[in-house]
Amino acid sequence: MFGGLREKLRAARDRLGSSIQAAGDTPQAAEKAPAELPGQQAGAPAGAAASVPASPTFADKVRVLITERELIVSEKDVNDALSELEMTLLESDVALPATDAIIDSVEKNLVGKHRKIGESVDALVVYALRSALLGVLGTGFDLRDYISKHERPVKILFTGVNGTGKTTTVAKIGAYLKKEGFTVVIGAGDTYRAGANEQISVHAERLGIRIILHKEGADPSAVLFDTVQYAQSHKIDVVLADTAGRFHNKANLMSQLEKIKRVMKPDLVVYVDEAVAGNDAVTRAFEFDKIVGADAVVLTKADMDSRGGAAISIAHTIGKPLMFLGIGQAYDDIMPFEPEKVVDELLEGGA
Ligand code: GDP
Repeated sequence: MFGGLREKLRAARDRLGSSIQAAGDTPQAAEKAPAELPGQQAGAPAGAAASVPASPTFADKVRVLITERELIVSEKDVNDALSELEMTLLESDVALPATDAIIDSVEKNLVGKHRKIGESVDALVVYALRSALLGVLGTGFDLRDYISKHERPVKILFTGVNGTGKTTTVAKIGAYLKKEGFTVVIGAGDTYRAGANEQISVHAERLGIRIILHKEGADPSAVLFDTVQYAQSHKIDVVLADTAGRFHNKANLMSQLEKIKRVMKPDLVVYVDEAVAGNDAVTRAFEFDKIVGADAVVLTKADMDSRGGAAISIAHTIGKPLMFLGIGQAYDDIMPFEPEKVVDELLEGGA
């Protein structure tokens, strides 16, 4: 997952580190005066007798010279490396607002910072990259926690473009929630696509999850209304409502979705798209959220995505949290999106 981005970040990290190291190795940096020696009063002329305690030993002096010499990282030291990082992010399909936010944050965390000579430059750089990435990735969305604190049934409506893995995601989340001890019912709200009913029924049967179906061509609002009624009367914890793929620019299909929302009153609208679509996924999510609204996002096919741009940018760009990443075709190939874990993986081998 995101292997290309990981490699590029490794190169950017090395580049930033060597720029700072090179600045630290210049004569001016090495000549920086040490802070006052132990036992020396502030402002006292060098060599003035210290009142308390006793004069520093030779060992004290050496230690102070090594530990107190410090380098202040300047903009000039990191400018080129930051421009390269910017290009790297853009090439990896990280959206412009997220790229800008990352560069700003890395710069703030490096420039003007006092670094003690001897302190690991790499640790400084990794810290800056880490906090920049965490800043754009947001908090994630803990579905388990949400369900456990919310009135049942929790109704989740899945929307998004056909072929991105929406139906598979509904099945995977059903399997995940079942494993977490919740009861689940699926509503087969994609009544348009030929074979959609069969496809989702096969998933439900394999997973042992109850499914509510109407005939192909039926009103999806009616199917999902029935699904909610079933959940209420059977005290089911979660309703997972599948829908047909809807393009954000098809007004009639969007209005269908509005009707579904009016009828089933979802607690959460989840937008599903594929990580491999990169910037297109981010743009679609943005448009979709503007028109229909979304509370959270699932990105599928992260296992096939080397660039990682959509996963890095989507929460920051649309202001909605990323909930899960799809990481394969099997039912358990889904992982709750945990920003810390993703950053650990991206900065693998970090200090
Ligand atoms: P829908 O039209 O959006 O409902 O898409 P489907 O659920 O039918 O999935 C389309 C294809 O994407 C299927 O072949 C799925 O197995 C595949 N798919 C879904 N999620 C993932 C994922 O996370 N990783 C990979 N590699 N394939 C996925």
